Amino acid sequence: MTYDFDLFVIGAGSGGVRAARFAAGYAAKVAVAESRYLGGTCVNVGCVPKKLLVYAAHAHEEFAQAGSFGWSVGSPDFDWPTLIANKNREISRLNGIYQSLLVNSGVTLLNGHARIVDAHRVEVDGVQHTAKHILIATGGWPQVPDIPGKELAITSNEAFFLPTLPRRVLVVGGGYIAVEFASIFNGLGAQTTQLYRSELFLRGFDHSVRIHLRDEMLKKGVDLQFNSDISSIVRQADGSLLATLQDGRTIETDCVFYATGRRPMLDNLGLENVQVELDSRGCVLVDEQYRSSEPSILAIGDVIGRVQLTPVALAEGMAVARQLFKPEEYRPVDYDLIPTAVFSLPNIGTVGLSEEQARAAGHAVKIFESRFRPMKLTLGDIQEKILMKLIVDAQSDRVLGCHMVGPDAGEIIQGIAVALRAGATKRIFDETMGIHPSAAEEFVTMRTPVSA
Ligand code: FAD
Ligand code: NDP
Repeated sequence: MTYDFDLFVIGAGSGGVRAARFAAGYAAKVAVAESRYLGGTCVNVGCVPKKLLVYAAHAHEEFAQAGSFGWSVGSPDFDWPTLIANKNREISRLNGIYQSLLVNSGVTLLNGHARIVDAHRVEVDGVQHTAKHILIATGGWPQVPDIPGKELAITSNEAFFLPTLPRRVLVVGGGYIAVEFASIFNGLGAQTTQLYRSELFLRGFDHSVRIHLRDEMLKKGVDLQFNSDISSIVRQADGSLLATLQDGRTIETDCVFYATGRRPMLDNLGLENVQVELDSRGCVLVDEQYRSSEPSILAIGDVIGRVQLTPVALAEGMAVARQLFKPEEYRPVDYDLIPTAVFSLPNIGTVGLSEEQARAAGHAVKIFESRFRPMKLTLGDIQEKILMKLIVDAQSDRVLGCHMVGPDAGEIIQGIAVALRAGATKRIFDETMGIHPSAAEEFVTMRTPVSA
């Protein structure tokens, strides 16, 4: 049978665009359908605008530090509409770049919602297209618990387009998005409270990292309330919101921001027409080669719910394109040692095992840990501290995990991730010359374990 396309990609986000471009580069005939925005979540309502807002929030701290270097900056004044307009302009520029990338690589771009009709057929805006392979790369969507008044809350999708900066914000959740946005709102001057339902936020991260970030966020003025959750929200006569907590307390605020995880985006995708199975979380179930239980349909990225990070979606997209159209270059994605950063203020950067994971996996470990005040702050009175931590296997001397909380942690950990992937031992760290004076040099000068 002949098809209109060799590959039909649904979703022009991180994973879909990468798969489409690589497949077209391997001479496949490729179409991509996108219903909302080119570049997907990361470019439009994720990584990119988030990082721009984090820079804006951090600028506030730079003003506070400038005085110690002799600068008088007066009283800084922040204008949210300027930030959002500049951010929107940059995102439009990136949308244009994505469009050119796709079109110039020979991909047919279809603007519209795609619906699967059968195992080889997709409909966009009433027109049906046939394809040998269909790739679901439809990403995820914020998920808000079903509480009375949930329609009064916003999520990250709306936060990027608020007309004004709320005076008071209540952030709910304890994952990446919640800590990043609590830092953004607080840094930009909103009175910020973060509620998290259990003992300590950032479950799954190294315990020292979680404690350190908690302490630093408290110092910066975020009102962190753990073991707290909302049971209902109402709008009051003056327009403000009143959140009632499960323990009966109430908090008055101007904005309730939910960051309680993301669900796979499968709305009106037509999955009832094919044999695509979902897992218990509702994510598309795929095998090691991203094939669903319908052999002609594959899925990658957030919609398969493995690791919800852009570089992972990119790697999966590339793997699918190679496996289908350039099998001699196919290499499976390695999910070990994925470095990640949380762009809270201060940032977290991490790669490899946490101390808890290393111990649970049966490693005898040596722990190296350092806490120090960054040199940049020594002329002033800001008391922020950096945390650096190495988890080392006591038998093999291999560095199993590396964690940092502090300025530019994401930038620093990227290089360390290369070392860990190369199998670096603690001895190799010790034999590496430091760059002086820098914060990063601490990673090669920690000599005495704090515990074993
Ligand atoms: P997406 O990028 O979500 O793309 C899916 C696309 O499919 C969307 O454009 C959607 O409109 C389209 N679509 C859906 N259904 C259909 C349909 N039926 N027809 C046509 N089109 C459809 N990751 C990082 O690595 N670093 C970060 O700093 C980071 N920050 C983030 C901050 C926030 C606030 C959020 C929400 C996420 C962040 N992420 C970050 C995660 C990252 O954005 C995702 O992991 C990544 O975008 C997933 O890519 P994807 O291709 O799977 O899906
Ligand atoms: P996460 O899964 O990271 O965190 C969700 C948080 O919400 C957890 O603290 C969870 O608590 C809590 N939660 C879940 N359900 C409820 C509920 N019903 N009531 C109260 N609290 C609840 O999701 P995010 O939305 O923060 O982010 C989604 C993903 O996007 C991240 O996991 C990450 O992969 C990606 N991302 C990456 C970024 C980066 O690389 N810098 C930045 C932003 C997002 P508990 O821990 O108790 O389950």
